[in-house]
Amino acid sequence: MRFSEQLIKTTKEIPSGEQSRNAELLIRGGFIDKTMAGVYTLLPMGLKVLNHIVRIIREEMESLGAEEIFMPALQPKELWDATGRWDTMDVLYRVHSPDGSHEFGLGPTHEEVVTPLVKKFILSYRDLPRAVFQIQTKFRFEARAKSGILRGREFMMKDLYSFHATETDLLAYYERAAAAYFRVYERLGLTALKVRASGGAFSDFSHEFQVIADCGEDLIYHCDACEFAENKEIATCVEGAPCPTCAAGTIRVSKAVEVGNIFPLYNKFSDAFNFAIKNQDGTDQKVLMGCYGIGCTRLMGTIAEVLSDENGLVWPQQIAPYQIHLIQLGADDTVAEAAKDIYEKLQSKGVAVLFDDRTDVKAGEKFADADLIGIPRRVVVSTKTIQAASVELKYRATGETSLIPVQQFLDEPYV
Ligand code: ATP
Ligand code: MG
Repeated sequence: MRFSEQLIKTTKEIPSGEQSRNAELLIRGGFIDKTMAGVYTLLPMGLKVLNHIVRIIREEMESLGAEEIFMPALQPKELWDATGRWDTMDVLYRVHSPDGSHEFGLGPTHEEVVTPLVKKFILSYRDLPRAVFQIQTKFRFEARAKSGILRGREFMMKDLYSFHATETDLLAYYERAAAAYFRVYERLGLTALKVRASGGAFSDFSHEFQVIADCGEDLIYHCDACEFAENKEIATCVEGAPCPTCAAGTIRVSKAVEVGNIFPLYNKFSDAFNFAIKNQDGTDQKVLMGCYGIGCTRLMGTIAEVLSDENGLVWPQQIAPYQIHLIQLGADDTVAEAAKDIYEKLQSKGVAVLFDDRTDVKAGEKFADADLIGIPRRVVVSTKTIQAASVELKYRATGETSLIPVQQFLDEPYV
C-alpha cells in the first residue's frame, strides 16, 4: 500500500476525551476511529491487525475440534426470559421492534441462543461431545467505557461452547481449552496467567486469563515462583504471604487485563432449556456445558498497551498490519525510482509493505510515523543508501539498525 493513497492519516493530536493509552496510540496511528464512548470503527490497518488476531484464535479453536458458526446479535426476549436474565442482566441492551410488537436483546453473550440451537441436533450420548464457536460482535452497556477498545460497548469476542455427556469429559475438554488459550496468547506475543476467579452468575468458579498491565481493571494475587493465581474477588491470600500452593514463592499483587474467561457451566443452561439426552442405560440426563470467551478487540488494545513504547506501537510480526515499512527519503528521481523498484519487487513476492512515498513530508515526520505505526521492520531508501547499493533496515522492537545490500534484502526480506 502506498502511504499517499491511503484513506487514513496519522495525527499528532491526542483525541479529546480519550484517556487510555491504547485508544490514543491506535487513533493517532490511524488504526481506529472513535464513533462514541465505547464504540469504535476499525480502519484499514486496524482491521488487518484484528484479522490476524482472529486467524490465530480460529486456528487454535479448530485444533480443539470445534466448528465455527455465526449466531444472531438480535435475539428474542423469550430466550432471555427462559434463563431469567432479561430482568437481571445490567449490561443487556433491550430494544423494541419499530411497531412495538416485539422486544429483543442485543447479544452480550450467546448461551441463550446456542443452547436451544445445539439441542436441536443432539439427541443421545452418541452425539456428544460437540463444540461450536463464533467470532462475533457483542453488545454490552458498560457503565464505564473509558478504556478505549479494552472496554467497548460494542466489541468483538470469540465465544466457544462445548457439550458433554459426563463431568470427566467436560473437565478434560476444559483443560484442553485452557491449553489452547495459552497458545493463542503466546502466539500473540503476550504472557497470560491462568487465574482462578468467581463463576459469576454462571458457575461455582471460572478461570480468567490475565495479562499483567498497569491499565488493567482487575487485581490479581499471584505467586512469583509457581502458577498459583487468584482474582482479588475470591482471593484467599494476602500480599507478601508465602504461596499456599508451592510455599517457596511469595504472593504478589498486580493489576491485570482479563483477556479470556472460561467457565464450566455444568447444567446451568441445559436446565433452563430442558436440554437432556438419552444415556447408555436409557435414562435421561442433562447435557453438561462449558463456555469459553476471548476478547478479540480487547487483545488488540492489550497489545497496544503492553508492547508499545514512548514513540508508539510495536506490533509483533505475526499480527502487524504490514511486515515492512518502506520509506523513500527525498523526492529526487533516483531515490523515487529505487524505492519504487524495491516496493514492486517486494509486492511481487507477496510481502506486505507500507510504502511511504510521500514527497511533501520531511524525514523526521516519516520516521515519527513509522515509530507510531509500529511495523516490525523499517527500510529506508535514500541517496546515501543508493550510493552504498544497500537499504537501511531498522527493527522497531530493538532499534537495531544495519545497512544491507539491496539484493540480499530482496532475497530475504524477513531476516
Ligand atoms: P470484565 O470483567 O472485564 O467486564 P467480563 O468478565 O464481563 O469482562 P466475559 O463475559 O468473561 O467478560 O467475556 C469474555 C471476554 O470478552 C473477556 O475475558 C474479555 O476479554 C472480553 N470482554 C468482555 N467485556 C468486554 C468489553 N466490554 N470490551 C471488550 N472486550 C470485552
Ligand atoms: Mg470474565
